Amino acid sequence: MSQSRILVVEDEPAIAETILYALESEGFEAIHCGTGGEALIAFRERPTDFIVLDVGLPDITGFDVCRELRKTSDVPILFLTAREGEIDRVVGLEIGADDYVVKPFSPRELTARINAIFRRTAHRPKPVEDSDAEVIKNGRLELLLERYLARLDGRELDLSRYEFGMLKIFMKHPGRVYSRDQLMEQVWDEPEAALDRTVDAHIKTLRRKLHEVDPDFDPVKTHRGIGYSFSDD
Ligand code: CA
Repeated sequence: MSQSRILVVEDEPAIAETILYALESEGFEAIHCGTGGEALIAFRERPTDFIVLDVGLPDITGFDVCRELRKTSDVPILFLTAREGEIDRVVGLEIGADDYVVKPFSPRELTARINAIFRRTAHRPKPVEDSDAEVIKNGRLELLLERYLARLDGRELDLSRYEFGMLKIFMKHPGRVYSRDQLMEQVWDEPEAALDRTVDAHIKTLRRKLHEVDPDFDPVKTHRGIGYSFSDD
């Protein structure tokens, strides 16, 4: 098995150093970032196998970092918290963390937790960076690609293959604006047979189906004269 890479996001140098030393002694490759922003960039450029994430960071909170990461990745995340009560188990699990430890902790306690999470998550689907990943998760929406199944808040959506195809493209690249031509090219088998208004019509039915679950949930944005994009905020 190749060496697992762990990203450590911690702004206090002494604590970071202790953690890095403990991880390297355990045979992990450890990478360090001192802010949430740096961590998001580092992870996007080269995803790691695990993240140790301090809740109190100088720029954005560890919770924000976790939410952002969870849009595209199922990487195991262990929170570090300054005091009991800063995070409770429910909150941590709601935003997608796997576990947390309270400072001060011993290096042995930390590595034991990490190893336990690795064992538990060993069979999770790969992050969506792999284009053939089976599951795409983005906030409240989840696509199970091989089963053509879409869920919003865990509720199954009855989507046509075109609606599903568009949602898949949108969710793979949140924020990217797609023209009608690009959507046709990627989703329709015979793009020349589809018209601009065909795309619009399927966007409309897609929105309607999302609204059936939550009338206020409108992740598909219209860019007048350009096309559509996906945003989950
Ligand atoms: Ca801190």
